[in-house]
Amino acid sequence: MNRDIRKMKKVVAAVVAATILIITLINYLIGEYRAAKAKPITEDSFVRMLDVGQGDCILLYSGGKAALIDTGTKAYADGIAKELKNEGIKSLDLMVITHNHTDHMGGIVPLTQEFKVKKLIVPDLNKTDEKTEKMQTAISNVKESGGKCETAKRGMKISLGDFDITVIGCYYDEADENDRSIVLKAKIGKWRFLFTGDAQEPTEKRLMEDGADVRCDVLKVGHHGSMYGTSEEFLEAASPSLAMISCGKGNRYSHPHDVVLIRLKEAGVQYFRTDISGAVTFTVTEKEIKVDKEK
Ligand SMILES: [Zn+2]
Repeated sequence: MNRDIRKMKKVVAAVVAATILIITLINYLIGEYRAAKAKPITEDSFVRMLDVGQGDCILLYSGGKAALIDTGTKAYADGIAKELKNEGIKSLDLMVITHNHTDHMGGIVPLTQEFKVKKLIVPDLNKTDEKTEKMQTAISNVKESGGKCETAKRGMKISLGDFDITVIGCYYDEADENDRSIVLKAKIGKWRFLFTGDAQEPTEKRLMEDGADVRCDVLKVGHHGSMYGTSEEFLEAASPSLAMISCGKGNRYSHPHDVVLIRLKEAGVQYFRTDISGAVTFTVTEKEIKVDKEK
């Protein structure tokens, strides 16, 4: 009897080992296939989550082309402008405002005054609960300096240096403004970044139902790590290895929530927080994504 159990244990161990080996091999082959299919990275390129306290502002840079996803609150506009100038950025090729909340669009007026924006992408302003004056002023600023403004639609594509950016979702009929966030995917070489704005579970569900390709290497965690987002199912579908969370130190919303942090940890995702690390830069090369923390 004991011998049978030992034999059975050996068989189970062998099956488990073989399964792990096969999965590892498949993952390796998928990685090789993606690398072979991917466009080469020819320019200096990075994604930086700026430290704007409780808000979002992400800089994408590739070969002299620059984009901002969100602008933080107005209080951080000067800091953002300084940061852009430090990088030698004089104009923005692209600005995307994920949704009309002040922690994402508060800096839009001063920034569009100071920097020429070639293309501004905004959510449907007829479907917002907030006032739109600031957005309208920014749109005028952009148009006056010769730039264009467009409302985001699913499938919209924009290239920025070596980045290929796609709007993979914008659900303007959602009840909560956060869930109307524009969701973007940026591909560069074999790497994929997913930017979710303040999207939460309802948007995550719809993205998955619609068959949107949410798989990524780096996830911008939705809604500053709120407990209402980054569901287990979504995290499994996205399967990032790295994540970034933008949040203010000691913020009154308790962002990021422990539930989300535990979920990330259990999924083996290494995450970086602006409240702890300051700005976080993901420098992208053919071989790796190198992460640098401000502090
Ligand atoms: Zn927010």
